[in-house]
Amino acid sequence: MKVLKFGGTTVGSVSNILTLLETLAEESKKEKPVVVLSAMSGVTDALASLADAAAAGLHYADQISELEHRHTAVAKELLIGQQLEEIVLAQLDVYFDELRRLLQHIQSLREVTPKTRDLVLSYGERCATYLVSKVAELHFSEALFVDASTLIKTDSSFGHARVNTELTSQLIRTYYQENKQHLLFVTGFIASDDHGQLTTLGRGGSDYTAALLGSALNCSEIQIWTDVNGMMTADPKMVKKAIPLTELSYTEAMELSYFGARVIYPPSMTPAFLKKIPIVIRNITNPAFLGTVIQHDTLKSSSNIKGISSVNDTSIINLQGSGMVGKAGYSGRLFSLLSREQINVILITQASSEHSITFAVNPADAVKAKQLIEQEFELELQAEKLEAPTIEQDLSVLAIVGENMKETPGISGKLFHALGRNGINVRAIAQGSSEYNISVIILKEELRKALNTVHDAFFTELKKTLHVFCLGTGNISTTLIRQLQEHHTYLQQHNGIQVKLMGISNSRKMVFDADGIPLESWQQVLETNGEPADLQEFVNRMQQMNLQNCVLADNTASPAPISFYEEVFRSNISIVTCNKIGNSSEYQQYKSFKDTALLHGVDFYYETNVGAGLPIVRTLKDLMLSGDRVLRIEAILSGTISFIFNNFKGNASFHDVVKLAQEKGFTEPDPRDDLSGLDFMRKMLILARDAGYPLEASDVQIENILPPSCLKAANVPEFYTELQAAEAYFVEMKEKAAKSGKALRYIGSLENGQVKISLQMVDESHPFYTLSGSDNIISFTTDRYKERPMVVKGPGAGAEVTAAGVFADIVNVGSH
Ligand code: ADP
Ligand code: ASP
Ligand code: MG
Repeated sequence: MKVLKFGGTTVGSVSNILTLLETLAEESKKEKPVVVLSAMSGVTDALASLADAAAAGLHYADQISELEHRHTAVAKELLIGQQLEEIVLAQLDVYFDELRRLLQHIQSLREVTPKTRDLVLSYGERCATYLVSKVAELHFSEALFVDASTLIKTDSSFGHARVNTELTSQLIRTYYQENKQHLLFVTGFIASDDHGQLTTLGRGGSDYTAALLGSALNCSEIQIWTDVNGMMTADPKMVKKAIPLTELSYTEAMELSYFGARVIYPPSMTPAFLKKIPIVIRNITNPAFLGTVIQHDTLKSSSNIKGISSVNDTSIINLQGSGMVGKAGYSGRLFSLLSREQINVILITQASSEHSITFAVNPADAVKAKQLIEQEFELELQAEKLEAPTIEQDLSVLAIVGENMKETPGISGKLFHALGRNGINVRAIAQGSSEYNISVIILKEELRKALNTVHDAFFTELKKTLHVFCLGTGNISTTLIRQLQEHHTYLQQHNGIQVKLMGISNSRKMVFDADGIPLESWQQVLETNGEPADLQEFVNRMQQMNLQNCVLADNTASPAPISFYEEVFRSNISIVTCNKIGNSSEYQQYKSFKDTALLHGVDFYYETNVGAGLPIVRTLKDLMLSGDRVLRIEAILSGTISFIFNNFKGNASFHDVVKLAQEKGFTEPDPRDDLSGLDFMRKMLILARDAGYPLEASDVQIENILPPSCLKAANVPEFYTELQAAEAYFVEMKEKAAKSGKALRYIGSLENGQVKISLQMVDESHPFYTLSGSDNIISFTTDRYKERPMVVKGPGAGAEVTAAGVFADIVNVGSH
């Protein structure tokens, strides 16, 4: 025989009730089950607030009518005629009359005691169970409504009553023996004390009712039907990527639920555990899915932790003082006091110096706990052996749970690394001595982010989601987003990486979407939903969204975003950029970017600052990291100038080649920005700094390619006129090189901490001699690569390769 419990989420809607009946029909083919039901979801909360409203003398008539309507509406949809009018609606009428009288009583006393509150709450289970049992009668003539308060006996701790298991088991068994011809529909959650006063088993307690029935009747299985696919790796309402767990041990389920996975009420585990009865969690909206089995022996799973759960709202109390050091008895007194007063302690941490004890409680208990401590330790406080206890509020507990944890080192390292990298500050830490869980206390406002961060770190099915914010909507961004779209599925399937575009801005408009902007229609979304662009506001919004694995991609060539970089790093957001302006401004600025990113544990990647997508910055970094020493760097890092000198041969005039380069889109609007070597200088400066030299732009020696007349020209057309006039100057250069069998190359070099950019003639033996088109080339001469330098060569400009470089940087974020 099985006990089937249907939670509030399953009895709230007509379609769920129909599935419930189908499930029962299927089960009854084998053996008649016992059914336990909860109040419709939200009803217990609504009843509690009704009681509070009445006690506060507030108006509550509308609320109660609404509640009544919720029940009658379901009844009217499922029933007709006499069964509806004379039986169900009549009984609901009786219940709601009683409830109204009870609330009037509370209102006139202006007080709601725990005892009266329990009575108020009991109507939720009674109404729902009665209603469903009467609907079931249409299909199962033997259906019988059972008010569990006559079967489950407890002490008088209202709100959280403790069960007298022996007496309860006897009563259940006797009742079942006498009524086993019936299909029993038992109210969850409610019980009664020795005086017959109604009590409740604590919020979520219907699961416990099911376990008590299952244990007393030695059932073969306890099924908990709810609205999710079983116990999951995290609360699916907080972590979208949570995955269902097939199997759990009782201990793991206990720890997860104790720390907030309310899908099952923790005390339910004990009766099942003692009788080795499996608990199966099933989904009413997906009945074909087998859900989670909680039982003794679970298969070894590949993951070190089973799940992550959280207590959303908690307060911590700190007690500290020199008087506690080395003295036995303080914590004993403290915790017996709290237990005597029925204050539930969620977790405790004590520093090994014994100088302080920190413990977490429900926020509703915090002030009372503080007062009790002040009374208990009055003498010690007066003698200043203890400091006054302090309360910290608006906190949450996050716990990782799993039996494998105890055999695996490094779990806590992974947890704290993930939290630290994402800027989540840990207020207190506790590890259960069983090593089944590690719990941390964090700010409540960071909970969602923390849960998602930790989930990404531990569950490999989908390793991580990268949340990308993009600045600029020009060539690079457009190409990048297209590439992201094209590789989206591949990245997910092969690398477990999901990239979401959360926000994008150009100089006119910006747009954000918490679910991710569709990659195929971002331009449209920006145009239609965009708000006026504002960089500070853009940064504020990134901070407010407070997402894990967050990256800002600065794809502009503008100085404006640079002044926000440090603020972005301080918000634990990584930056990926092809914008060279930041790294090539003052050295102090460059250094500060690096230091701030390091301090906040985030990445700063700028591979595309030099040679577009070519692996130059990364290669240099790896050489340095592996202990190599750079002796010399030689490079051609201007695709434009390469193109010009590669085509300046035969009869072509210098003027025509520059014009052609401009027509092909290789140059800046004013070709002198390239030919003056400014862009090249920036790249060389960044490389020199990465190689360890604290240089400024003024330290770089640039040999000008252009004669002064060209540089002085007032505008681009005049520049071209001057260029034509200076043709002889360039022809002389060309002929000189040709005569000696050499090629003209504009080369940057770094040697002995000196950066030079000059026009050189190189012969065939030089690796740069054969450079073609607009390619870039760089050679690193190092201690290890002395005889034959390491050379990187390839296309060093263009939207496609630059965007690909930015793409690679983005997916590398957080990869170490
Ligand atoms: P019922 O009314 O059916 O008893 P509850 O609301 O008590 O339902 O419990 C189900 C809810 O528990 C789910 O809707 C889900 O939001 C929440 N929950 C929290 N943690 C978890 C978890 N780790 N796995 C599954 N559900 C969880
Ligand atoms: N209805 C009760 C509650 O909301 C009991 C339960 O749902 O298990 O707490
Ligand atoms: Mg529940």
